[in-house]
Amino acid sequence: MFNKARRIQELPPYLFAEIDRKKRAAMAKGVDLIDLGIGDPDIPTPGRIIQRLSETAAEPANHRYPSSSGMMEFRQAVADWYDRRFGVTLDAATEVTSLIGSKEGVANMAVAYVDPGDVVLVPTPAYPVYAIGTRFNGGDVHFLPLTRDNGFLPDLASIPADVLERAKMLWINYPNNPTGAVCDLSFFEEAVEFAHRHNIVLCHDAAYTELGFDDYWAPSILQVDGAREVAIEFHSLSKTFNMTGWRIGMAVGCAELVGTLAQVKSNVDSGVFQPVQEAAILALEHAEEFLGPIREVYQERRDTVVDGLHRAGFELPAPRATFYVWLPVPGGWTSTDFTARLLDEAGIVTTPGNGFGDPGEGFIRMTLCSPAERLKEAVERLRQVSL
Ligand SMILES: *Cc1c(COP(=O)(O)O)cnc(C)c1O
Repeated sequence: MFNKARRIQELPPYLFAEIDRKKRAAMAKGVDLIDLGIGDPDIPTPGRIIQRLSETAAEPANHRYPSSSGMMEFRQAVADWYDRRFGVTLDAATEVTSLIGSKEGVANMAVAYVDPGDVVLVPTPAYPVYAIGTRFNGGDVHFLPLTRDNGFLPDLASIPADVLERAKMLWINYPNNPTGAVCDLSFFEEAVEFAHRHNIVLCHDAAYTELGFDDYWAPSILQVDGAREVAIEFHSLSKTFNMTGWRIGMAVGCAELVGTLAQVKSNVDSGVFQPVQEAAILALEHAEEFLGPIREVYQERRDTVVDGLHRAGFELPAPRATFYVWLPVPGGWTSTDFTARLLDEAGIVTTPGNGFGDPGEGFIRMTLCSPAERLKEAVERLRQVSL
């Protein structure tokens, strides 16, 4: 009856529909499914953070509209945490804004800077919002493949001159979803230099910096000299403190970019419920205490899965961060077929790598968002699948 807006009609087909259908069918048959598909922590938010929300929710002052760019106290807590964690000094008033989860900020960044005809440089495979945000605003996506050969780092030198001329923005994401790859400061330096040289808005999605293994602590792009003039970093409490449902994140860095994003937000949203900001302040102030046990849990899970996969004959490097395992599919199988076999023969739900972009073909993504016993069971079952 009503024609959907062209931007909605033009959305790509939902690639996981078939997996979802099979998953529901298996569940209806009573199969004991192990879901390694979802990237959403199963561990609860630490109790003291919840308690802070309850206490502050009772205060009438918190029942009114918050500011769309966040309470000064929250922004200062973000700045203090960046200082302690990364040695990066931020001006809370101009270089920090709150977000209703970083996904909101990623999508609105395109509203802030992308006009029809602009090109946005987007890695692939990747979190889908970079490309979708671009297209919703009439921009063209130029994909930068992340492959085993390039160490899952985009080859900035490969971008054709005519594309570069129209390029407005570059997205990068380390530690990376879905590949689990990390990068060191030298790649960030290259990206910052590239952004300066071509006058490109540099966006770094840093959602997983805190989830490292073996004493690995991921860097912030703002540690690079000159980043403050061209780069904005998107961060979130979601993955760090098991707070995905709370919807709170932050964008920090270049004051001009943060300011424009805040300007968009002031026109479309009214910020984050203040008790959620109060709870986030407590989380950031005690980040080190909360994170220790969370990192231990993921470390045990990663070791369980990676050791089990190695024993089952799979060859893959152990990820150094994130809660994702990017598993090369054994010879002859497509990602989709292998995912279907794992579901049919072992009751294991995984995500085919090509669902995140074509160069993800040949891989499947497994998440570490299930208890270690379930992951152990999954690896046992996987060994029974004839390859
Ligand atoms: C989970 C995730 C986010 C978004 O998290 P929010 O809950 O919206 O803060 C952003 N980027 C990547 C790569 C993610 O995996």
